[in-house]
Amino acid sequence: MSVDSRGRYTPEAMGEVMPGSEGPAGSRSHNLLSPRRASLMQEPVLVLNATYEPINVTAVRRAMVLMLKGVAQAEEMHNAEVHSAAHAHKVPSVIRLLAYRHIPQQSRALSRKNILLRDRNTCQFCVRVFPSSELTLDHVVPRSRGGRSTWENLVACCYRCNNNKGDRTPEEAGLKLARKPRPFTLHTSRQLMRLIGHRDERWRKYLFY
Ligand SMILES: [Zn+2]
Repeated sequence: MSVDSRGRYTPEAMGEVMPGSEGPAGSRSHNLLSPRRASLMQEPVLVLNATYEPINVTAVRRAMVLMLKGVAQAEEMHNAEVHSAAHAHKVPSVIRLLAYRHIPQQSRALSRKNILLRDRNTCQFCVRVFPSSELTLDHVVPRSRGGRSTWENLVACCYRCNNNKGDRTPEEAGLKLARKPRPFTLHTSRQLMRLIGHRDERWRKYLFY
């Protein structure tokens, strides 16, 4: 899941598949055998393009692989370390790709996962946050009335509101949309990065918040 039961965002939100992170990594040292190590390896890492433009969020584990391969270098470090048999490794908080990568403007596929991300797991009618498993997609203009499956006509919706709305438009059902549904844009991605990174001061200067 990209949003856990408490509504917290995890790195998966940016399209990488990994389990949720477990709270902030402070000034701790992590041993290979420590149960904390697994969660440290899943802490979110901001990925910058060669031009310092934020493009993605990944996990510590993946970021360290990219650094070892010489694809990326660390720009900011956590105060934590992971230990292997012979070495202590500093853990990155922000990495930068060494070669520029072209990122298509509108690369997000129209999918259930991306709609839930865009709507931040919030039912667009009752404005409450739910885990992904308790949300469905609602066609604002019902399919039976010619409503299409598009970014502008699909919203995250809890089962209760979905049942309540039935085969009606929001106006007919006396419901109001929390906000107008829009395609997933660069702006949406930035917002998500800020949500994921709000615990890490080191991300601020790259995301301007
Ligand atoms: Zn609802």
